[in-house]
Amino acid sequence: MRSEVTIDLGAVRRNVRRLLAALEGAELWAVVKADAYGHGAAEVARVALDEGASTLCVVTAGEGVALRAVVPDARILVMGPCFGDDLDRVRSAGLELAVAQPPFPADVPLHLKVDTGMGRYGLLELPDPPANAVGLMSHFATADVDPAFAALQLQRFHAAASVLPQLQAHVANSAAALRLPGARCSAARCGVALYGLSPFGVDPVDDGLEPVLSWRSELAQVKLLAEGESTGYGRRFVAAQPTWIGLVPVGYADGFRRDLTGTEVLVDGERRRVVGTVSMDSFAVELPGRLPKGAPVTIVGDGVLVEEHARVARTINYEVTTGIRSAPERSRRVFVDG
Ligand SMILES: *Cc1c(COP(=O)(O)O)cnc(C)c1O
Repeated sequence: MRSEVTIDLGAVRRNVRRLLAALEGAELWAVVKADAYGHGAAEVARVALDEGASTLCVVTAGEGVALRAVVPDARILVMGPCFGDDLDRVRSAGLELAVAQPPFPADVPLHLKVDTGMGRYGLLELPDPPANAVGLMSHFATADVDPAFAALQLQRFHAAASVLPQLQAHVANSAAALRLPGARCSAARCGVALYGLSPFGVDPVDDGLEPVLSWRSELAQVKLLAEGESTGYGRRFVAAQPTWIGLVPVGYADGFRRDLTGTEVLVDGERRRVVGTVSMDSFAVELPGRLPKGAPVTIVGDGVLVEEHARVARTINYEVTTGIRSAPERSRRVFVDG
């Protein structure tokens, strides 16, 4: 087996319950865009709804249409924007749509998206709401890193919401749902926390969350590098003394990024350093001695956090899991519901 990604739907269930408890009565809307951040949109959507999430949020019309086939009755919000015949697809699949600029389409429930400081999609001025508007939303730029700016955005959002009290107000993402009680409003749109990933880049346990994804492989070859010999492109790791290395059949084509050199994975339960340049189809780990071919490798899981890899790659956990590519012949994805 090259590698296997395991998605623990039981952990999704527990994260949903944790978020519902934090929301103190506000609705939980499960954000399952980008194939649920690499975790599998259909499967995650099903268990999230099962545990009490009330709406699914996606970005594209295509994502919404695909989910509609899986959950015939759920409320699904397409956060947009629309291209081509997307609007027709949104209408015929019975989806709702976020709109960030006029003209406002008819015959589809609309969520007016206001820009309170994100400076991305969003209306800069509050319009007269069309008859088919049902929601009012905004999005935080700094709920994870700058509470003062988030508070300013929240103040602007509450001002808008007070002008349009007939619309359902929703502004919180995971970070705000967990740590900005004033942002809970009527509903919170949570993504990353559902997956047991920390919106703050720390250990998810700090916020009562449980990682959902694990990624395992095995050593495909073990060899001894003599002093002065190297492994991988560019000879970026040269053995200072005779060094055993193991080759793991996972590379950047699978989503193990090229900038993960230096991160740690478990080999036979012990932390080992990734050395040399990550290839398209493999990476190398430094071993303490000769280990058997087939020794188990845990890339994520069993205490190895996505957050650690993200720090090494100077990115965020969101980007690491969204980048994992599960293809049947490369990295199989299996679901357990424990
Ligand atoms: C992705 C997204 C969310 C979810 O954010 P998390 O940080 O993953 O909870 C919420 N709202 C909008 C508009 C988004 O694009």
